[in-house]
Amino acid sequence: MEIVVARSAGFCMGVRRAIDMAREVAQNEGRTVFTHGPLIHNPQELERLRSERIVPLAPGDPVPRAPVIVRAHGIPPGERRQIEAAAERVVDATCPKVSRIQQTIAEYSAKGYAVVICGDADHPEVVGLLGHARGPAYVVGSPAEVDALPDLAEVLLVAQTTQDEGVFEAVRRRILERYPGAEAMSTICSSTHRRQTEARELARDVDAVVVIGGRNSANTRRLYQICRELCPRTYHVETPDELPLEELKRVHRVGVTAGASTPAWIIERVVESLRAAGGE
Ligand code: SF4
Repeated sequence: MEIVVARSAGFCMGVRRAIDMAREVAQNEGRTVFTHGPLIHNPQELERLRSERIVPLAPGDPVPRAPVIVRAHGIPPGERRQIEAAAERVVDATCPKVSRIQQTIAEYSAKGYAVVICGDADHPEVVGLLGHARGPAYVVGSPAEVDALPDLAEVLLVAQTTQDEGVFEAVRRRILERYPGAEAMSTICSSTHRRQTEARELARDVDAVVVIGGRNSANTRRLYQICRELCPRTYHVETPDELPLEELKRVHRVGVTAGASTPAWIIERVVESLRAAGGE
């Protein structure tokens, strides 16, 4: 069995940066620090971070008098003010690419534009983006949802950074039909683009694909769907124990990719297990 690991597998810049910032604060402070929500959608990495005294706050938890780290997804300004009022200090690890979209939304909505975000309304990044609008703002996940929007004069369309490119393109076309002259900006992150493009190429070229990442990670689930459409033998695993080794032993080439929140050490363990089962 030949093992082909995608070059883009694993942490993106924004997640890597947020984890590095949290570790630096915890080390410098020499005490427990808190993150506003889980820093990463990966339970194994969250456990490891806990052992380094980096603890996520759950929704509704009181904000402690300690350093609190804002994760890569960002948060609405109002929520940030609440945390600032309670925490000892706030360390902003919002991904710079997300910050740029937040600024664009604030600028355009201050000029009177209605904002349309192509994304998942429940995703924390989208909640944070919505919070930066100073006027009407909407979230759509499909062209049909564009049809349900009210009549609007000036429109800015942006995307959640991990949005599927095909979905965004379909929404963009419908927005321009309904609101000619709308400003449509593809704000899908280049790291997402690279990862999804490589996953498609990989899935076409192998007999089976292993996608590694948290089950609660939207970008990992999306990678799984992309690979599954092109390669029916696609498996989503969080850890090496979940590998269907008996089935994988029967194939010639196995592709391995991983979501933006999957740490390198888990990818390495999965590859080691595949090697131990006869891969090379
Ligand atoms: S996917 Fe892109 S925008 Fe989102 S955190 Fe990672 S680098 Fe930043």
